[in-house]
Amino acid sequence: MDMTWFDDMEKRIPTGEVRTRFAPSPTGYMHIGNLRTALYTWLIARHAGGRFILRIEDTDQSRLVEGATEVIYNTLKECRLTWDEGPDIGGPVGPYIQTERRDLYAKYAHLLVEKGEAYYCFCDKAESAEDSGNFEKTEDPCRSLSFEEAKARVEAGESYVVRQKIPREGQTTFQDVIFGDITVDNDTLDDQVLMKRDGLPTYNFANVIDDHLMGITHVVRGSEYLSSAPKYTRLYHAFGWPVPEYVHCPPVMRDAHNKMSKRHGDPSYEDLKAQGYITPAILNYVTLLGWAPKGENAEREFFTLEDLTEIFEMASVSKSPSIFDQEKLKYFNGHYLREMSAEDFYALAEPHLKAAIHAPQVDLKLVAPLVQGRCDTLMDIAPQVDFFDALPQYSNELYCHKKMKTDEANSLEALKLTLPVLEGLAEWTYDSIHGALVGLAEKLELKNGRIMWPVRTALSGKAVTPGGAVELCQILGREETLKRMEQGITQLS
Ligand code: GLU
Repeated sequence: MDMTWFDDMEKRIPTGEVRTRFAPSPTGYMHIGNLRTALYTWLIARHAGGRFILRIEDTDQSRLVEGATEVIYNTLKECRLTWDEGPDIGGPVGPYIQTERRDLYAKYAHLLVEKGEAYYCFCDKAESAEDSGNFEKTEDPCRSLSFEEAKARVEAGESYVVRQKIPREGQTTFQDVIFGDITVDNDTLDDQVLMKRDGLPTYNFANVIDDHLMGITHVVRGSEYLSSAPKYTRLYHAFGWPVPEYVHCPPVMRDAHNKMSKRHGDPSYEDLKAQGYITPAILNYVTLLGWAPKGENAEREFFTLEDLTEIFEMASVSKSPSIFDQEKLKYFNGHYLREMSAEDFYALAEPHLKAAIHAPQVDLKLVAPLVQGRCDTLMDIAPQVDFFDALPQYSNELYCHKKMKTDEANSLEALKLTLPVLEGLAEWTYDSIHGALVGLAEKLELKNGRIMWPVRTALSGKAVTPGGAVELCQILGREETLKRMEQGITQLS
């Protein structure tokens, strides 16, 4: 076989840098395990000052979902997992979509057959078995066809698949950064399909060809591929190519026995966003699913992407599966919401505030700071602020508070005394309201709570509110405040 074309392909391969790739299949759904793989893959590249490549693995045409590539792009962009080469931006070893590379694979498959490491198989098999590459492990008559005979049948137009020829004896060994050295008996490996009848490669073949041609130095992926790694390793050896470092990450589980899955309704990245979780918190939590910092950072929980870029070590990825715990994610999310600047929080909170509050006089910018410290997710905003729009029905028992020493009778009295004071205010500002209420308590020689508690109750109809009496007066505005206080007086009388 003329090797010029193959030699030219070798010359294009970038060297001398760490190159990792995220290689999702466009299924329309970025599950948490996938996101974590993307993150670890990105971190390995960035930590080493290398390049991160995005490759779309779409050779399984039966699984294609419209718009799925957009989900991948959007998720990576929102997470700031920037790529240096990819379908949209190109790069030195493109194209980066496997179906656009379809002509490459057949050439390598034929080369492999010539080398005696693969064979053409003409047997009729169910299409499903062919797509998955899972033929039953029985002796295939085509395995022992002579190369000339098989080639003649191919040239005569007979339909075929290409299968890997695994020796029946001996062992194959490979190294994994996380799982160490693994050796398997060759007779446990099946003659997997490399090229399907439709002329497209299986994942099992394409990943090896592409990772080699793209100069990938570290192959990071889920541990479900660990059992196939010996077969991939044999392919590298068959071509005489260096084997990349394998980094197989253990799964993210929903519980002790089951992986997270769309089928079980487990949330994807987009689902979590829709549930009010924010990207930096998701990333922080997802990183710690299966990876733990060491040394001076061992006790630390909170990391930005920049921190992680600096300290992430792939050798510290755990071998054991991790369980996704939404309560723990909530804890991270709440922390991030509390710690962010008021402006950043407002930008996130605004749509939720707008959905809950329609009263035109309410300044949402004054409401946001009151809830910032009281949310684990953005979904916690609306239920806390709905009373600004409409006073809920409430029971007079809310006026009775032991510690504040309030009951129905003295609350009625307090509201009656407060109403004219507020009515008489020349200007309606936080300070003027505060001065008036505190001044009144002082004048009556009462603790502030005796005034504040009844006012807050009358304004909100709730036992717990973000903000106290003064903030609520200020935000509700003069008219609505006085109206609600009169309503309280009527209700208590
Ligand atoms: N397309 C494969 C998947 O989405 C990628 C596995 C790999 O990274 O090699 O599972």
